[in-house]
Amino acid sequence: KAAMEKIIWQRSLQMRTEQLTWQESQKGQKILEFRKSLPAYKEKDAILSSIANNQVVIISGETGCGKTTQIPQFILESEIESIRGSMCSIICTQPRRISAISVSERVAAERGELLGETVGYKVRLEGVKGRDTHLLFCTTGILLRRLLVDKNLKGVTHVIIDEVHERGMNEDFLLIVLKDLLPRRPELRLILMSATLDAELFSSYFGRAPMLHIPGFTYPVRTHFLENVLEMTGYRLTPYNQVDDYGLEKLWKMNKQAPRKRKSQIVSAVEDALRAADFKDYSAQTQESLSCWNPDCIGFNLVEYLLNYICQNERPGAVLVFMTGWDDISALKEKLQGHPIMGDTNQVLLLTCHGSMASSEQRLIFDKAEDGVRKIVLATNIAETSITIDDVVFVIDCGKAKETSYDALNNTPCLLPSWISKVSAKQRRGRAGRVQPGECYHLYPRCVYDAFADYQLPEILRTPLQSLCLQIKSLKLGSISEFLSRALQSPELLAVQNAIEYLKVIGALDENENLTVLGRYLTMLPMEPKFGKMLVLGAIFYCLDPILTIVSGLSVRDPFLSPLEKKDLAEAAKAQFSHDYSDHLALVRAYEGWKDAERDLAGYEYCSKNFLSAQSMKAIDSLRKEFYLLLKDTGLVDSNPTTYNTWSYDEHLLRAVICYGLYPGICSVVPNEKSFALKTMEDGQVLLYSNSVNARDKIPYPWLVFNEKIKVNSIFLRDSTAVCDSVLLLFGGSFSKVDMGGHIKMLGGYLEFFMSPGVAEMYQSLRRELEELIQM
Ligand code: ADP
Ligand code: MG
Repeated sequence: KAAMEKIIWQRSLQMRTEQLTWQESQKGQKILEFRKSLPAYKEKDAILSSIANNQVVIISGETGCGKTTQIPQFILESEIESIRGSMCSIICTQPRRISAISVSERVAAERGELLGETVGYKVRLEGVKGRDTHLLFCTTGILLRRLLVDKNLKGVTHVIIDEVHERGMNEDFLLIVLKDLLPRRPELRLILMSATLDAELFSSYFGRAPMLHIPGFTYPVRTHFLENVLEMTGYRLTPYNQVDDYGLEKLWKMNKQAPRKRKSQIVSAVEDALRAADFKDYSAQTQESLSCWNPDCIGFNLVEYLLNYICQNERPGAVLVFMTGWDDISALKEKLQGHPIMGDTNQVLLLTCHGSMASSEQRLIFDKAEDGVRKIVLATNIAETSITIDDVVFVIDCGKAKETSYDALNNTPCLLPSWISKVSAKQRRGRAGRVQPGECYHLYPRCVYDAFADYQLPEILRTPLQSLCLQIKSLKLGSISEFLSRALQSPELLAVQNAIEYLKVIGALDENENLTVLGRYLTMLPMEPKFGKMLVLGAIFYCLDPILTIVSGLSVRDPFLSPLEKKDLAEAAKAQFSHDYSDHLALVRAYEGWKDAERDLAGYEYCSKNFLSAQSMKAIDSLRKEFYLLLKDTGLVDSNPTTYNTWSYDEHLLRAVICYGLYPGICSVVPNEKSFALKTMEDGQVLLYSNSVNARDKIPYPWLVFNEKIKVNSIFLRDSTAVCDSVLLLFGGSFSKVDMGGHIKMLGGYLEFFMSPGVAEMYQSLRRELEELIQM
C-alpha cells in the first residue's frame, strides 16, 4: 500500500513539474495572458474556494466569459498544484457531442498538450482518453451510461454539468440521479454552469447551494425588428414570402400563459407592421389566412437580401445567422453560393456551424477572415451559448429553433421549428456585441417578440418520455412515475403514463413495468425505441443492410427533394424507386443506387438526376456505420456481412421487420368509390404527406404502418409501408411467446374496430387458433 501511495505521489509531483514548465514557456505564457483576460479568471479564487467549501456550486456568466474552457482547468490546475493531480478525476458534461470535442481540443491546447494526455473527451462511439486523463469532457449521455455500470461514480472527484440552462432531458435526468448520489459520496463535488440561469431554481433544488456570477461586459447592440429591417433595406414581402416568414400558431401553443385575446392583437399588430412597410397586397389577406401561416420554414429570400445589404452597406465585421437546423442551413448555403457576392470566395468566407459539422470545418469558425473578406456563419442555436465566435458584429435572428414538442393528449410528437424564448433572443442579440458595438436584425415584428415566452419549456415537459423511461428502468431506479416526480420540474402524469403504455405495447416493458429482453436490448441502443426494435429484428432475421439504411434515412433530413417549381419531375423520379407501396423500401433503393453511383464517382450526378439530396445520402452513409457499431456492441451481429445479409433481398421479410418496428403506428386503408380513406384508431381520418409514394394510386393492401404522425391542421402520416393482414397479425406488437396471448387479444381488438363483421369473425377464429397454438 505504501508503495502504491508513493507511485501516486511521484506521479502527482511529476504532473506539477510539467504544468510549471509549460506555464513558464514562451507559448504557455502567451496563452496564460489570454486566459487572464477572460472574465472568469478574475473569479478564479472565489470559484475554487466555493467549490472547496460546498458540495454543490452554481456558476453563471455571459457566453464567452470562460466558463467551459477555464473552470474545469482551474480545478485541474489547483489539484495539480496541491499535489493531488494524479488522484483527481474531473468529468465535464456537454449537451452536444460537437462541443465536447471542440472544448477538449481547446483545453488540451491551452495546456500545451495533445488530446488524450491529461485532457480527453468521450462521445457516443468516439473518444480520446489516456491512462493519465484527469479531465474528461463528455456528452451527458455518456455520463448516464457510465452510471449504468458504476452507480457511485467511483474515483470521480468533480462532476461539472455545463449549459444546465438548456434543460435538456438528459441533464434534468442526470440531476435527479446525482441528487440521490451526493449523500452517498460526501467528497464528490457538483458544479452547475450556464450562461443564463434561473439560478434560484437550481439552488433550491440542491438545498440552497451557493450561486456565483461572473460579471461580463458587452458592447451595446442596436436592435432592429422586422418592420425596421424592411424599412431600412427596402425589401418587399410577397404573399409567398409571408407564408415563409411567419408561423404564429405555434407561438400560442408555446406561450400558454398568453391570454386568448392577445392572439388577435398580435395578428393585427403584424398587419400594421407590414402595412407600414408599404406591403400593398397584404391588406387583402384576412385574419384567418394569417393564422394558417405555415410555421415550417423561414424566409430564405429575406435573409439573402439582408446579407447582401450588409455586405454592400455596412462596416466590416462577421455576420452570424441563426437558422433552425442543419437542413435549413445547407439549403441556404447552397442558395448563397449562387449569389454574386456571397458566392465569391474573394469577398465572403461562408461557414456553417451546427451539430454535425466536421472538426476541420469547426476550427475555421474561430479563425478571422482575411482583410476585405467578410465572414458569414450560418449557425443553429449551438452558437447561442455553447460556441463563441469572437469577431461577430452583425446577428441575423430568424426567431426560430427546431425542437421536439409533445402534445401529451394526442401522443403525437412534432418536430417543427418553433419560436424561441425571450431569453434566447437576448442571447442571440448579445453575440453581436463582443468586440465592438453591434447590430441585431430580428426577422419578426416587435409584437411577435413581445409574445415570446420568457423561458423555453424544459425538454422533459415537452417531449415523449419513452427513452427516458427505459433508462430509468435500466439504471434500476424504481418506479418510473415516482422517480420522475422528483425531477426539477416533473412531467405531466399523462405523458408518463403514455410513455409507459407505449413501452408495454411495443414489448419493451412487461405488465409490471420490468424490462423485457427486448427492452434490455433497446436500452443499449440510444435511439428511438422503434428504430432500435427494427435493428434488433433486422439483425436476428439476417436482413440488416436495408434496415440500417431505413433507420438512418429516418434519422436525417428527407433525402427526396421536392423543389416547388419541379414538383412533378421530382415525384416521377421518386416513383421509379417505388413500385411496391413503401416509402421505406423506396429509400433503400435510392440509397443503393447512390452507393453504386458513388463507387463510380458519379454520386452527385445520380442525386441531381433523381432529385435526391447528396448531403442526406452522405449522412445516411455515415449513420449506417454508427448504428452498425452500436448493434455490434449489443452482441447481436458478428462482423460477417454475408451472414447478416442472407435475406436482405426478401421484400416480404423487410416489410415484416418494418412493421415490427413501427407498430403501433398502424392505419387502415378503407377503399371508397374514388380511391381510399385512411383511418387510425386514435385519430379517425388521417392524410398522407404529398411526397409519399403511397399518396398516388390505390393501395392494394389493407394496412399501412407509418413512422410518424405530424399535426399541422389535419394529421399527416409521413413515410409509410403497406402491409398485409398476416404480417400485421404476426409482427405487430411484441414478439415473445409470453406476450403473444395478450398481444393477439389487443391486436384482435384493433382489427375488430375496423373490420366488417364477416372479416372480423374470420380474425376471431384465426386468433383462437393462434392462441391454442401458443398454449400447446
Ligand atoms: P463560455 O463557456 O463562458 O461561453 P468558453 O470557455 O467557451 O466561454 O470560451 C472562452 C473564450 O475562449 C471565448 O471567448 C473564445 O474567445 C475562446 N475560445 C474558446 N474556444 C476556442 C477555440 N476552439 N479556439 C479559439 N478560441 C476559443
Ligand atoms: Mg460554455
